[in-house]
Amino acid sequence: MKNFDKNGMLIIPTPKEIKSECESEEILVVKECYCQNGHQLINKRVCFNDLPGILLKVKKLNYKEGFIALSPVYNHKHRISIDIDLIKGESLQLYCPECSIELPIYSNCTCCDGKLIAVFLDKTANFNNCITIGNTVGCKNSSIIANKEILSEIKYIITR
Ligand SMILES: [Zn+2]
Ligand SMILES: [Zn+2]
Repeated sequence: MKNFDKNGMLIIPTPKEIKSECESEEILVVKECYCQNGHQLINKRVCFNDLPGILLKVKKLNYKEGFIALSPVYNHKHRISIDIDLIKGESLQLYCPECSIELPIYSNCTCCDGKLIAVFLDKTANFNNCITIGNTVGCKNSSIIANKEILSEIKYIITR
């Protein structure tokens, strides 16, 4: 098994429960990620196929509040919402559940007029080492995405 644990990400063999949805033999899993104040957002209370998920606080434009849990698996669009209904096309504000700071915008979304929100892979809040989450419900970027630099390193490791 090739372990890639630089940048808070890990490559593991694809669990068979996820295999039907993924084409690859290995998946990329976020094993730690942080808000800009260094709070861990990976939470064992929200697991996807035994992998601890990313728990975020969300607010909608109508001030309704709740939580969403995202699959920690790269390109795996599973998510769970708690206390809030997710309606396709709605945009969400994402917060750290611990300090309630609003997570920063990384860029405009590439597919809709939403934003890509940054979650950092280490405690230094470095935009060169982050993953992004689209803030529009149902947008194709609404699972976790690694930035280009991280992805090219990961491709290198997978194909090596
Ligand atoms: Zn925080
Ligand atoms: Zn989008």
